[in-house]
Amino acid sequence: MANPLTPDVLVDPVELTRSLVDIESVSRDEKVIADCVEDVLRSAGHLTVERVGNTVMARTDLGRASRVVLAGHLDTVPINDNWPSTVVDDLIYGCGTSDMKSGVAIALHLAATLPAPAYDVTYLFYEAEEIESEFNGLNLVAGSRPEWLRADFAVLLEPTYGVVEAGCQGTMAAVVRTHGRRAHTARAWRGVNAIHAAGEVLRRLEDYHPRTVTIDGCTYREGLNAVRVTGGVAGNVVPDECAVEVNLRFAPDRSEQQALEHLREIFEGFDLEVLDSAPGALPGLDAPAAREFLTAVGVEPAAKLGWTDVARFAALGIPALNYGPGDPSLAHAPDEHVEIGQIRDGAATLHRWLAA
Ligand SMILES: [Zn+2]
Repeated sequence: MANPLTPDVLVDPVELTRSLVDIESVSRDEKVIADCVEDVLRSAGHLTVERVGNTVMARTDLGRASRVVLAGHLDTVPINDNWPSTVVDDLIYGCGTSDMKSGVAIALHLAATLPAPAYDVTYLFYEAEEIESEFNGLNLVAGSRPEWLRADFAVLLEPTYGVVEAGCQGTMAAVVRTHGRRAHTARAWRGVNAIHAAGEVLRRLEDYHPRTVTIDGCTYREGLNAVRVTGGVAGNVVPDECAVEVNLRFAPDRSEQQALEHLREIFEGFDLEVLDSAPGALPGLDAPAAREFLTAVGVEPAAKLGWTDVARFAALGIPALNYGPGDPSLAHAPDEHVEIGQIRDGAATLHRWLAA
């Protein structure tokens, strides 16, 4: 197959978005798109290019004082009757238009057309963001090629509709268990009902006042919720165990350890087991490259409430944020689309920042 990412497509981030969308790349099927991207980056001449699996890294080595990362994932969720792309007025429809081939298009356009940026730039086009983190290209690279991620600041071009979303909240899933003693319900006084004991767990959740925390101008709203309750043996048995699964979303001023201590405090006297957790990421907007980026973009940053790959950079001590042209509420939707104007604005803004 001839590479559709031709030089006249690369100079136009809108055309490039369409071409990238039209290369099908559902998670774990990114070989063709990674081949096309690698090929284009290698022929640019001013970039050092390496590849692991279907993750492609390209970087300038100009000896600049600081280095920034522009990153985007190449995969999409499964196609849902929305492929290949179509254009209606100033909208491009199709799987991956918002999340996040329009963002990838901006990064690839800059990689190909900006041979001497003001910072050294590392471009990362990675695989398998939409599935389990064991496949995530950024996660794999952080393990096997951590030097690819070394930078002073990182921008992930995930959909934010042109807003700067900094840092992200951490998340922790845990089970709070209550214990009792089984008995026949006809002689219930011989038993202890574990489901009734869970009432106290639910009351503590009901009385919980989540914090709102502002860091670097970004406001994070924490939350603690019961998400599942299991218990009961049979219709005539006093149950001896009940489990309340809770999910804590915590602001990035708490570490995972501190989040756990917080849960232990709330559920003091109960059995608590952590199922899964992921750290948050501080916004880190006081880093010089981040400040210059915010000046170029000219909008106030907002907090990212969900968990994103920016946390992977934060774990390495690299401030990172999300800034992309797509509308996040359209990601993974059958009518997924992106505004052409958002792509042009995003490309112009990042060009202004990098060429300054
Ligand atoms: Zn995405």
